[in-house]
Amino acid sequence: ATPMSIMVGVGRGARAGVLIRDAEALERLERVDTVVLDKTGTLTRGVPAVTAVAAAEGFGEDEVLALAAAVERASEHPLARAILAAAEARGLPVAEAEGFASPAGRGVHALVAGTDVLVGSARFLEDKGVAVGALAARADAFRADGATAVLVAAGGRLAGAIGVADAVRPESAAVVRALKAAGLRVVMLTGDNDATARAIAAPLGIDEVLADVLPDAKAAAVERLKREGRIVAMAGDGVNDAPALALADVGVAMGTGTDVAMQSAGVTLLGGDLAGLLRARALSRATMGNIR
Ligand code: ADP
Ligand code: MG
Repeated sequence: ATPMSIMVGVGRGARAGVLIRDAEALERLERVDTVVLDKTGTLTRGVPAVTAVAAAEGFGEDEVLALAAAVERASEHPLARAILAAAEARGLPVAEAEGFASPAGRGVHALVAGTDVLVGSARFLEDKGVAVGALAARADAFRADGATAVLVAAGGRLAGAIGVADAVRPESAAVVRALKAAGLRVVMLTGDNDATARAIAAPLGIDEVLADVLPDAKAAAVERLKREGRIVAMAGDGVNDAPALALADVGVAMGTGTDVAMQSAGVTLLGGDLAGLLRARALSRATMGNIR
């Protein structure tokens, strides 16, 4: 493509809600044969809400939510915002926490009134020596509904499980259908649990799901696809997606996502409209002269 046609393409993109930061991304997009999509905040809206709370023996539901909220107050994760909003909606007192830490892609922990409280994935609690079996069936039921099961432990004992669900974006199914109809391979990549991921992926027509992927491993998953000879576009919104966006042949950030995601991507979809991905691809084909 000539510099002139690229400039025209960038301008047309901007008017279609597709911000092109890297002209090479526009040139490469038409050759992409594999699209990797982050789940939370990309295929879903990224505004999760608490849908259920289960308490373990010796704990109350409100107590579970209040303990979790005390720790999540220091987190900026979308799951944290959902838990805080639920605690607030129930008018629960949220205690001060000390010594907050957030191992990426696993959860958060802190001291609440001198007790160590853990909030996160089942794997996170198990790795810290907490038995989660007592609520395994409840957590599985949350996941089968497409919700994330956030487990809570206090003083080394399982306290409860919180179901947090995030609605699928209205355009996601049509976008996946169009990509597949164009012959592209579509892969979901998420740090969330496999059961939750598959419950979201199946109705969208995505059968290739890479779940339980820790933040560092997201870029490695993209790298593996590239080594297979695939030309990869990766769409994501989070801090944890940034390295994968930078490594992909074309990184696509959701405009509703984090700044680092947008800085790492060649293309940003304004307003977080995932359908912009299809417009960007059409633009690339037009720019490269393959559509007349
Ligand atoms: P995704 O790839 O879906 O955007 P993340 O990598 O951010 O997800 O997180 C992966 C998993 O780690 C979450 O599904 C959750 O189980 C756990 N987790 C991460 N941060 C938190 C948090 N602040 N509170 C509770 N759980 C968390
Ligand atoms: Mg995300």
